[in-house]
Amino acid sequence: MIKRTTLFFLIASLGITIFSFEINKQPDTDGKQKVIRTIVIDPGHGGSDAGAKGQYSYEKDICLAVSLKLGKMIQEQFPDIKLVYTRTTDTYPALHARANYANENKGDLFICVHVNSAPMKKGSEIVGYKTVTYYVGKGKNRKKKTKEVPQYRYFNIPSTAKGTETYIWGAGKTDDKELAVRENSYIYSEENFEKNYGPNFDPNSPEAIAVSLLKTKQYFKRSATLAGLIQDEFVKVGRIDRDVKQRPVGIWVLQATAMPSVLVETGFISNPEEEKYLNSEAGQVELSECIVKALKNYVKWLEDKQEDNEKDNKDEKSKDSNAARIADTKEFLETVEANEKKKSGR
Ligand SMILES: [Zn+2]
Repeated sequence: MIKRTTLFFLIASLGITIFSFEINKQPDTDGKQKVIRTIVIDPGHGGSDAGAKGQYSYEKDICLAVSLKLGKMIQEQFPDIKLVYTRTTDTYPALHARANYANENKGDLFICVHVNSAPMKKGSEIVGYKTVTYYVGKGKNRKKKTKEVPQYRYFNIPSTAKGTETYIWGAGKTDDKELAVRENSYIYSEENFEKNYGPNFDPNSPEAIAVSLLKTKQYFKRSATLAGLIQDEFVKVGRIDRDVKQRPVGIWVLQATAMPSVLVETGFISNPEEEKYLNSEAGQVELSECIVKALKNYVKWLEDKQEDNEKDNKDEKSKDSNAARIADTKEFLETVEANEKKKSGR
């Protein structure tokens, strides 16, 4: 059972805090707010965690190589953006350490670079025949017969799966989100968690889940937009588009980072043709260029949004937008409450 009034005020005040933080951001010299100050790049795996294995290379090495190229390109094109990496060498920072690091650095965007893999298929071929003797009938009618039985050789066929896909965290259904938050409550290990939410705050309570969702909701649209723009760029250079995918569970870092986040599966190391591409200088440059182009469009999109917001503020519609935010949360709380009732059989 939820103490709805308490909860409502908690959420409402959080909404207002976030809202006032947004409008209190210091403007730049040209009078415009910077839409992105810090980007965190997370090369997947590393150290003892090699990730997926190809015929001659490891995922962790490709992730690092692409990430470093990507970072260098971002730095060239956006010299004002602060870049931080969760690793720049062959080490394995724990996932919670990566997320904490990103949060501590107050990232505005988290980009995870990974390499995909599909399992080998089993193939077989007939290599010859063996004569096998068998008998039919009983007693006097028993007859000896022979037949040819094919002999097979079994082998592994590399999967032909290829292309890129970009993951974001989140799911269409409230239930899934709830599940995901419950599964990974690390998101609450924020520095000022107790101070912000009180010492008796249970991370797995519906209240906590609601707070987390409020946060997630803000980032979801941004993550989804960037992910879409990244896939668009991959398509333009002829990569196979495996689309933007949402995962409610499983990609922990995406959820634990308090910022828009995407995970790019750059290609399939299990496909020999793609393994070659992923390891090549040209391939790594192309992948990085695609992500940087998408980033440019994303920044543009954020700036347009900001302009719209400023217009709204001038029209004194800002109160309405905060009211909408609170109404959204209220609606969510009702869903949680209904689910809780269902579970407890009331
Ligand atoms: Zn991976």
